Amino acid sequence: MAGKKIISGGEEKSIYEALSMDYIEPEPREMRGEIDCAQKHNLPNLVDIQDIRDDLQMHSVWSDGTCSIKELAKQAMCLGHEYIAITDHIGHLVIAGALNEKEIKKQWEEIDKLNNLFGGSIKILKGGEVDINADGSMACSDEILSQFDIVLGSLHSQFKMPKDEMTKRVVRAMQNVHVDVIAHPTTRVIGRRDEVAFDWETIFKIAKKTKTILEINANPDRADLSDVNALRAINEGVMLSLGTDAHRKEQLQNIQFGVYQARRAWATKGSIANTLGLDNLLKQLRQ
Ligand SMILES: [Zn+2]
Repeated sequence: MAGKKIISGGEEKSIYEALSMDYIEPEPREMRGEIDCAQKHNLPNLVDIQDIRDDLQMHSVWSDGTCSIKELAKQAMCLGHEYIAITDHIGHLVIAGALNEKEIKKQWEEIDKLNNLFGGSIKILKGGEVDINADGSMACSDEILSQFDIVLGSLHSQFKMPKDEMTKRVVRAMQNVHVDVIAHPTTRVIGRRDEVAFDWETIFKIAKKTKTILEINANPDRADLSDVNALRAINEGVMLSLGTDAHRKEQLQNIQFGVYQARRAWATKGSIANTLGLDNLLKQLRQ
């Protein structure tokens, strides 16, 4: 190497420095304008795992999960969560142990007891993952829906509806004032089931208008919303949430995959509901 001088390269970051660019985190390296932003020093401050205070989708033994609510809460405390939403199935998914209204009230009694027991070291929210019927109505009465802390609306049937009908179906669900989040919005399972057909412009417009949150499902087989749609949602002013959809306590650590996906979509703290303190989240959900 006679006559040659190494100007950079000891560490990856030093290459960016030598080029007078800000460092680009690995996740958003997708050729979507990040190089331009790095040169102009206006890359967003991406959300980080340390910013995440909760997990907004999980299933217990009350429906098709394998752990008790207590076990889930303890595991969530180990992960540093301040609160969690228990969101067992409600509606038609009988094979998934969907709860009826009588069982829901019993579950709430258990959650009240556990919240007392934990004395504030973690707060358990009363949630439900409620089926969105084919016509966009919810598979649970408004009277019950209004008493949940958080209601997730989910497509679990009739995935092949034409785009217009499917869009109308989810629009109607978002217009229900009790529905807070649309969970795994496109229902895709990577390698097994394609995304449902949506008119995305309408979905984002109505989500913003109704202040409905769209989920990034952190199950790595789902990763739903996709990074592309999550990025579009953020640009349209839609709030996103992360939920592991854990069916056993070990899956609660999948929250990290949700964070990766959010970072690929250039998400900052401000776009992710899970970065809010409990009071602020509940305020947001009541809107
Ligand atoms: Zn689901």
